[in-house]
This record gives sequence, structure tokens and C-alpha cells, in this order.
Amino acid sequence: MPGLRPAVFLDRDGTLNVDRSYILRPEDMQLLPGVGEALRRLQAAGFACVVVTNQSAVGRGMMTDVDLDQVHAEMKRQLAALGVTLDGIYACTIAPRTEDKIALEYPDRKPGPGMLLRAAADLGLDLARSWMIGDTLRDILAGQNAGCHECILVRTGHPIDETQFGLAEPFHVADDLVAAARLVLANYA
Ligand SMILES: [Mg+2]
Repeated sequence: MPGLRPAVFLDRDGTLNVDRSYILRPEDMQLLPGVGEALRRLQAAGFACVVVTNQSAVGRGMMTDVDLDQVHAEMKRQLAALGVTLDGIYACTIAPRTEDKIALEYPDRKPGPGMLLRAAADLGLDLARSWMIGDTLRDILAGQNAGCHECILVRTGHPIDETQFGLAEPFHVADDLVAAARLVLANYA
């Protein structure tokens, strides 16, 4: 739609930073190699870069909202040093009731599309021209549930279980965020 920007929605742990299962303290936040370059290239091409992250550690009582803010402040500090300012960070802090990683329990918790839809409304984003990049099938499904143009699974986080690939519509696989950004830009006229 005219006037709306395309976005790249980004999972956090295992996509932007080293996955340590729970990132509870700022000192646990370590960006993956090439992330700054990838985000700079996407933003230079006109994509809003928006983090959408499930952070159930808050809902599980392992950390507070303030702790999460401090982790994100550290992530923003590290990105700023690489010349990147994110367009938004959305976090779902609800703890799931099921062990099923792809069950859609709450609209905001991936694989629910809630955070992406909210970001689109807040920031004026065109979902049909937007991409979702993440390291789990849950991220792929969130992007597809939100009506994103394409989704990319990166190999920098969770071990990939290819037996589950059929549970989603077709998607791309890339070695890391740099390769994923290259794929987005190659498909963007
Ligand atoms: Mg992840």
C-alpha cells in the first residue's frame, strides 16, 4: 500500500544474538557476527528493522520487566556502536501453558502474529512486502500468520528439525543473518 514501509521482522535470540536459552542479564547479550552489517544494509534499502521476541522468562518469574529493559538497552548500545538503531522492539512476556513450541496460545506469543500486527499498525508497515527472519519454526509461522511476504530460517540458533518443515508453508533457509539479508535484498526490486 502506498505510504507504508516494508519491514524485516527479526527474532532476537539465535538470530541477532547468541542463544543462551534465557538471556537474563545484560552481560549475557552478545550479538552474532555480521549482524550490524546485515541490519545496516536492510535499513539502507528502506526496510524497517523490528525485533519481535518471546521472552517467557518474565512470565516464568525468572526476570522482571526492568531486567528485560536492561537487556534490550544493552542490545541497543551494542547495535548503536555498529551504526544501527532498531525501528522497534516488541516482546511477549507471557509464559506458555503448553510444551508444544508451535501451539498458538496467545495472539502475541509467536507463532501468534500479534506483535507483528501491532508493529505494523504502530509503525505504518506493509506486511505484504515484509519478511520475517528467525531461527525456529515458531518464527516462520508467526511471519506466515501475519501475512508476511516471505520468511527465512537462519541456522545460527536452535538446531533445525527438518522433519517439522512441513508444518509451515514453504520458506527460505539461510546460514546466518548476513545471508538472509542478502536474500531479502536480492528479492527486493
Ligand atoms: Mg530464537
